[in-house]
Amino acid sequence: MIPSVLPTYNRTPLTFVKGDGAWLTEADGRRFLDLTAGIAVNALGHAHPALVKALTDQAQALWHTSNLYRIPQQEALADALVGATFADTVFFTNSGTESCELAVKMARKYWFDKGQPDRTDIITFDGSFHGRSAAGIAAAGSEKMTKGFAPLLPGFTHLAWGDHDALHAAVTTTTAAILIEPVQGEGGIRPLPDACLKGLRALCDETGALLILDEVQCGMGRTGRLFAHEFAGITPDIMMVAKGIGGGFPLGAVLATENAASGMTAGTHGSTYGGNPLGCAVGLEVMRHIVDPAFLAEVTRKSAAFRQSIEGVVGQHPDVFDHVRGTGLMLGLKCKVPAGDVVAAATAQNLLTVPAADNVVRLLPPLTITDSDLAEATERLHAAATAVAAHEPA
Ligand SMILES: *Cc1c(COP(=O)(O)O)cnc(C)c1O
Repeated sequence: MIPSVLPTYNRTPLTFVKGDGAWLTEADGRRFLDLTAGIAVNALGHAHPALVKALTDQAQALWHTSNLYRIPQQEALADALVGATFADTVFFTNSGTESCELAVKMARKYWFDKGQPDRTDIITFDGSFHGRSAAGIAAAGSEKMTKGFAPLLPGFTHLAWGDHDALHAAVTTTTAAILIEPVQGEGGIRPLPDACLKGLRALCDETGALLILDEVQCGMGRTGRLFAHEFAGITPDIMMVAKGIGGGFPLGAVLATENAASGMTAGTHGSTYGGNPLGCAVGLEVMRHIVDPAFLAEVTRKSAAFRQSIEGVVGQHPDVFDHVRGTGLMLGLKCKVPAGDVVAAATAQNLLTVPAADNVVRLLPPLTITDSDLAEATERLHAAATAVAAHEPA
């Protein structure tokens, strides 16, 4: 008999009942060190007092009005995002996949309004992940997500990662936009080299194609910059945001330049919940913390130290790990043994990690994690690797 919850997930049989900083408490009382942060969502950790206050204060006042009316919390969060980024304007969604939907619509409408309605193609890359909506799965294109869901939304061209010749050949007079994650998350923590991001920007400038960056996972301070593209010194035309921006409240956004957003006039897009007072009150509080240069400097400092110590663990377990990759507090352990075995062994040490494609274990702690919690995580990872090495055939 089908369970009452549609069985689309392979869940680990753990039930968490309380969170505090980087720690989760299981129903049986065990405490787990959380390097998943709800998959890069709980940027300020669990039950951050300032977020609890922002949420509960707003909950006492007003939850939801719909976008029929002005929403001061939404305007304040949009102002904060515009003030801190390339963007001139922001639309609020409830998730990353909804941000993907709008990014695709915005790019197509842009060219439609420019009198080039055939310019509808979106170029995307292998190993990417853009969400589970019709546009999201068509954009990523992997068989794992698309099989059985045909007909797929047309107009997506998938290219191999790093194939420059194919890229230059693929951008034609029907290309609306190039869509890419500056650091692939689900794809296995693959950072796009700064030179490639610069090259993509130059190619877009040359051809007019819009550059859409998916910073749903790598944005909001995860890399030590507010957004990952800042390292390359370029800016996109459109950017998808979600996950960390709500700190655990479902919130997403599409940021855009005035030019890229020019087709999105009144009536062309909408959302019942997107940008509601409750979500935006929380998002504004998250934003206040993360834009602080001192906060971002701490992410960079902690991540450098953590990376060095996990490089040490990897060096001590050459049969288990291949190498460390990633940037900031978005790190991946490329494994020689099945990554799932490492995740399971870490879980047995009460250390939570996230598997990704390409046989990688992701480490995505809350950005607020302390030095001592990172030291504890390193020790548990070492213990997990020791256990894995003892069980794997040589
Ligand atoms: C998680 C993710 C999405 C989808 O976000 P949802 O909130 O799950 O819809 C899209 N793009 C990237 C890069 C992501 O990591």
